[in-house]
Amino acid sequence: MMPFAATLEKHGLSLVRGEARALQINTGLLCDRRCRHCHLEAGPDRREVMSRETMAAVIAFAERFPFRAVDITGGAPELVPDLPFLIEGLVPRTARLMLRSNLTALAAPAREEILSLCVSRRVVLIASFPSTNPAQADAQRGAGFTEGGITAIRNLNAAGYGVEGSGLELHLVSNPVGAFLPAPQAQAEGKFRSDLLRKWGIAFNELYTFANVPLGRFRSWLAESGNFDRYMRTLQDGFNPCTVEGLMCRTQLSVSWDGHLYDCDFNLAVGRHQGERKSHVSEIRDLPSPGSPIAAGDYCYACTAGSGFT
Ligand code: SF4
Repeated sequence: MMPFAATLEKHGLSLVRGEARALQINTGLLCDRRCRHCHLEAGPDRREVMSRETMAAVIAFAERFPFRAVDITGGAPELVPDLPFLIEGLVPRTARLMLRSNLTALAAPAREEILSLCVSRRVVLIASFPSTNPAQADAQRGAGFTEGGITAIRNLNAAGYGVEGSGLELHLVSNPVGAFLPAPQAQAEGKFRSDLLRKWGIAFNELYTFANVPLGRFRSWLAESGNFDRYMRTLQDGFNPCTVEGLMCRTQLSVSWDGHLYDCDFNLAVGRHQGERKSHVSEIRDLPSPGSPIAAGDYCYACTAGSGFT
């Protein structure tokens, strides 16, 4: 297999930072699910979660460097005890605050308060929903996912999320249930829209499709099932040079649950710090300058295959 760096070079491209416009905050690895594709190997037995002290440092960071968009992810952020503190602190500091949810964590009765907070603060919800085929979705995200996910979307629609004219955005994310590339986004969105409406009477705003990144639990599954080499070849053969300009690592920074900075959540998963130097958000006085290099690996092929990691 040709290393990712060599493929870039062959096309006369390099992976360097542009202007940092977005901040992703990984609040930890604790999750109520143990999905087969999770690049962070999150799950119910993980204990790493962002403390209130780190949240305060992240909020101060967002104050020093106003980002156009801030994206809270995990694990399941809803399980992190101080999530409301983080949301309240970030709302005034960005034009667009997003919360990623696996739906089942948000749907639990104990999380009603978080949902009301999201409604009142107009937080954009990004929810994982791999397939409209319940057997396939449950195979990836664990037994009972579809039932819980549908209930959650019903509750979200009832609260106004995904409903035209409400201003409350609910976007879904779908990633393949096996070692193959996702269907084209527009085609997949049409199918999701009609399937979800016809089968369950539920709605959403937009669907994003992502290729699974060969890291963490998905990498182990690929190796155990004998699919690793074939999947990496599929990603490499799908390399699309046009995706490089728009890669999220060019304009986004990621912060880990313990407050350190990375170019993206995948580099965070493998422990490669931004600028190849371990820095805590509390000590950062300058954002990486445009043109500075991004740490890349062969897993980057997942972001550049087909129409890319939008
Ligand atoms: S994994 Fe994707 S987002 Fe991260 S550095 Fe590689 S290309 Fe960029």
